[in-house]
Amino acid sequence: MNKRGHVLNAVLLSIGLGYLLEPAGDLQTFETIVAIGVPVTLGAMVPDIDTAFGKHRKTLHNLPLLIGFFLFPELFDNLEYVWIGVLTHYVLDVAGSKRGIALFYPITKTEYNLPIGVPVSSSRADLMTVVVTVLELVVAAAIIYDLPRRGFEMVRQSIGL
Ligand SMILES: [Zn+2]
Repeated sequence: MNKRGHVLNAVLLSIGLGYLLEPAGDLQTFETIVAIGVPVTLGAMVPDIDTAFGKHRKTLHNLPLLIGFFLFPELFDNLEYVWIGVLTHYVLDVAGSKRGIALFYPITKTEYNLPIGVPVSSSRADLMTVVVTVLELVVAAAIIYDLPRRGFEMVRQSIGL
């Protein structure tokens, strides 16, 4: 995806996460959207810096970078939530566009992709971005509300275990 798609994805995802975490729709919800949205949107812009420095969809589109941003807040008490922006950038590139990313670069240059993406220049690129974002929010909701464990508990109780 292009920068426009990544910003759209990051902003929509952050609004969705804000409502998942603070569903009341009040000032607390708005504060959460801002607190998450700024670092997530900045994080979503990071991988494509490799269009200028390094090899595009390789140098800054890999697991070591994502792990680095995931661990950074733990190590330096800074840059919280940026990793979510990096992760959503990878998801949108892999699922939403034709070309994949070299997730295991520099070990291998192989680019991984899902066969469902549309060309970045396609008129359907925005629709694809929204679809990917909604799917990400479904996964986020499942994690935030602990749905897999709750579902398991419901099934366990309904069969009397
Ligand atoms: Zn990218």
